[in-house]
Amino acid sequence: MAIQIYLDNNATTMVDPFVLDEMIPYFTSTYGNASSTNHVFGKKASAAVQKARENVANLLEAKDDEIMFTSGATESINLAVKGIYKRYGSIGNHIISCVTEHKSVLDVLRLLEKKGAKVTYLPVNRDGNIDLEDLRKAITDKTILISLMFANNETGVIHPVEEIARIAQENNVLFFCDATQAIGKMPVSVEKLAIDVMALSAHKIYGPKGVGALYVRKKSKKIQLEPLIHGGGQEKGLRGGTYNVPGIVGLGTACAIANENLNQERKRLKKLRNYLETALLNLEETFVNGRGADRLPNVSNIAIRFIKGEQLMASLKNVAMSAGSACATGSLDPSHVLMAMGLDKEDAHSSLRFSLGRFNTEAEIDLVIDMLNQKIKKLRAESPAWELYKKGLIV
Ligand code: PMP
Repeated sequence: MAIQIYLDNNATTMVDPFVLDEMIPYFTSTYGNASSTNHVFGKKASAAVQKARENVANLLEAKDDEIMFTSGATESINLAVKGIYKRYGSIGNHIISCVTEHKSVLDVLRLLEKKGAKVTYLPVNRDGNIDLEDLRKAITDKTILISLMFANNETGVIHPVEEIARIAQENNVLFFCDATQAIGKMPVSVEKLAIDVMALSAHKIYGPKGVGALYVRKKSKKIQLEPLIHGGGQEKGLRGGTYNVPGIVGLGTACAIANENLNQERKRLKKLRNYLETALLNLEETFVNGRGADRLPNVSNIAIRFIKGEQLMASLKNVAMSAGSACATGSLDPSHVLMAMGLDKEDAHSSLRFSLGRFNTEAEIDLVIDMLNQKIKKLRAESPAWELYKKGLIV
């Protein structure tokens, strides 16, 4: 089979072989129910869940009793946003979020709007970031929640989380942060950043799919959520259902590895990403989306004008990348994130997201650069619009 290079790590990651090794015994030998602590099988499972909780907490500089396990970031987001609205909706019905949030936040907000919530969606500038003045001005005496992501899945643009948390605190509003893409790629300390509630997912950090966590601040605040899933009383009654012990162990191990290698890996990925980005920027009519903003070290979202992202992907089947976000794949609408940043439809459609990860090598990036150079040249040579552009007839 032809070589396959995976540059779609923001969509999901390979499970780290070490993570898998740690998970396997919880399928095959230590398969007890973590709530059945009256025998050794259950006791071992329960201890493994506790260890995982500590590993997640350590990565976030949180306390272990501030971490609860879920089926992934989507569930964590649902629990946080719906849970806060249900609990505090009688105090105020106003939520502030942003146009570039992930669909898992936007869809929940749309649902709450149908139930009477008023949502302000902050706009973003050309670099994909919000204006903190807009945030300050949007707060009213009815505002109960600010829901803003840490880093964008499509562009890697990082929100000014520390300032957002400060504004939330000053105004006595809760701050929920979807940190799914930031965790493991940059330091995320709930202690330093004063985030109240935060979602994360294992499969973006070399852990298994179908498991995630929600951080809920205990220190200095008593945040109450309404559960979405009832039954069994697990997670202090906030999330019923038998513990997914192998998955939780996988998440914990993934967090421990990320914590150990964070700074080194950040630097390595940034270097590799910049290498790829520089090569593409050397071509005519290319630009990076979010270039003026702080960005995650592993992501490059780049517009290659006069070529459709989908077309380039179709002609380069041995490189996994993404045109728009994976969750929106299948729809021909241009990315809502890029459109919000002010790109026109053409440029949005010509944008591609490369998201690098732990297992990518420099040799792979060299190959990708060669292949992209060839394909871009070929596709542009076949493009009537490119010909007109080269003749100076269009801009
Ligand atoms: N938020 C963001 C920013 C994401 O990138 C994703 C995954 N695409 C999610 C939420 C949903 O995560 P999960 O797949 O764990 O439900």
